[in-house]
Amino acid sequence: MHTSALVLFSGGQDSATCLAWSLERYQNVETIGFNYGQRHAVELECRSTFLRALRKSYPSWDKKLGEDHMLDMSLLGQISDTSLTQAKSIEFGKSGLPNTFVPGRNLLFLTFASALAYRRGLTVLVGGMCETDYSGYPDCRDDTLKSLQVTLSLGLDQRMVVETPLMWLDKAATWRMAEQLGGNNLVSLILEESHTCYLGDRSQRHAWGYGCGKCPACELRQTGYETYRRGQHG
Ligand code: ZN
Repeated sequence: MHTSALVLFSGGQDSATCLAWSLERYQNVETIGFNYGQRHAVELECRSTFLRALRKSYPSWDKKLGEDHMLDMSLLGQISDTSLTQAKSIEFGKSGLPNTFVPGRNLLFLTFASALAYRRGLTVLVGGMCETDYSGYPDCRDDTLKSLQVTLSLGLDQRMVVETPLMWLDKAATWRMAEQLGGNNLVSLILEESHTCYLGDRSQRHAWGYGCGKCPACELRQTGYETYRRGQHG
């Protein structure tokens, strides 16, 4: 049986929810983050704050939560030309993808994560990729990840399961999942400590958390949270 997992944890709403999902499900959970010269180190700061708060609020999860690993992926800056790594505004290209897209980014992240998981004796990779997101990143699609699971398992000559619990959920359903996993306390924790905004704005606190309130990531988070709250009261 698969009892140990490595969670791709960026500090955002999705990966925070995936971390809680994994802590409910596995005995031994470690986290991995990637530093790739994001314009906004704020997201990485949120990671450690969130991990500390989660440990404090959920002692049973604290016992299962192991090491946090941070990999330097600054080399991605050499092959990308996007608003995440350079001072550019977010635009949508002809392909319909935002220019924040780093081609194949998740393939690289999962491949590095699998090498680390192998060495740590972890057999499941958990990621917050989903197809319901507005952006349609091809490396977040279910087929891509299922295919990668096969490739990684063959290449490592060891079963490596890729779990994506949010694959078919919209943002409102992701909030509901957090509530089911850790109650209102977890919802509040994700609201307060997770970060989504592309512009790295944490100066404005809205009902749905911090952010500029205007970028596509903020809009998505706001709409999802408001839908979730309406469902709660309706
Ligand atoms: Zn924003």
